[in-house]
Amino acid sequence: MQNSSVEDFKNLLEAKGQQIVITTHYKPDADALGSSLALAEYLQSKGHNVTVITPSDYPRFLNWLHGQEKVIALNENTVEEIKLIVNQADIVFCLDFSALSRINDLEEIVKKSSAKKVLIDHHLNPDHFADYNFHFQTAAATAEIIYNFICMLGDRSLITKDIAESIYAGIMTDTGSFRFPSTSSQIHIIIADLIALGADNSKVHRLIYDNNSELRLRFIGFALSEKLNVLKEYNVAYFAINAEELKKYDSQTGDTEGVVNYALSIEGVRFAVMMVEREDGVKISFRSTGDFAVNEFAALHFEGGGHKNASGGKSKINLKETEAKFLHLLPLYKEQLNLI
Ligand code: 5GP
Ligand code: MN
Repeated sequence: MQNSSVEDFKNLLEAKGQQIVITTHYKPDADALGSSLALAEYLQSKGHNVTVITPSDYPRFLNWLHGQEKVIALNENTVEEIKLIVNQADIVFCLDFSALSRINDLEEIVKKSSAKKVLIDHHLNPDHFADYNFHFQTAAATAEIIYNFICMLGDRSLITKDIAESIYAGIMTDTGSFRFPSTSSQIHIIIADLIALGADNSKVHRLIYDNNSELRLRFIGFALSEKLNVLKEYNVAYFAINAEELKKYDSQTGDTEGVVNYALSIEGVRFAVMMVEREDGVKISFRSTGDFAVNEFAALHFEGGGHKNASGGKSKINLKETEAKFLHLLPLYKEQLNLI
């Protein structure tokens, strides 16, 4: 995919007072929401009217990000307002997803809008739906790209403390707190600059990682002691959590996020999976270490995709059947999963 040039973006944003919509993927994570809010504040400071619209709600631990209180999340009460805003938009920015199907019910609304579409993202194999692209599949986070985007336009000085913290949150979570292989020296240089620009790094860590409800922590304890399956012969560990169990722990959006990483942390485990029974089917998270490409596994078997070592997917059959399907697939991958 050919990226648009600095001049293209300068021309696009030149006229002041444009109506701009920023949207991101279903169940936004810190990178999705942090990138969106950082870009929104930056574009506002450039004199545009900006609305962030999400296809769903988002985790409680993101409710401190600057500007999140103005986000409009799609639901039956907001759908008409959202249609109006998107129809009147001059530009729609699409952040942290590479296929329109990831914005669920917003897809049709965005497709119908005559606004110019801009894709800013780091996922593999982006669809060609946008008029302008700023796509880097080697970027660790969309938030990293947003930082580079603002600097490329010559506006580093417009990065406020709030913008810096939103970008910091996105990079921190998508790099697993600066430990995934995507954590380049360039990432540390950007992070250093964000701190220099006022980001309170310690605060961001605390608000995202040390902000559990008591029930969420008890849920993790339950999952680890009762629901963790370890298949040594495949170097696999997985959880399958049903709706009743989620309800028992009053599980909220975001509460299951990251739990899959405990399975991956077991010595020798190279492929970790979390299956969660939701109202609209089974949502699956895949994680791996090394060469096992979970995005290919997710795309082939569970209508998903993502990154090589962190992907997601779904299944329309029930949880038990999904688990059985997964277990049946493992022998096909036995050799790959046993390569050191
Ligand atoms: P998570 O397991 O945290 O939901 O997602 C991990 C990664 O996989 C994220 O980068 C996310 O963008 C991607 N991902 C999650 N679900 C899906 C999906 O249904 N389809 C695709 N293509 N990617 C997904
Ligand atoms: Mn991301």
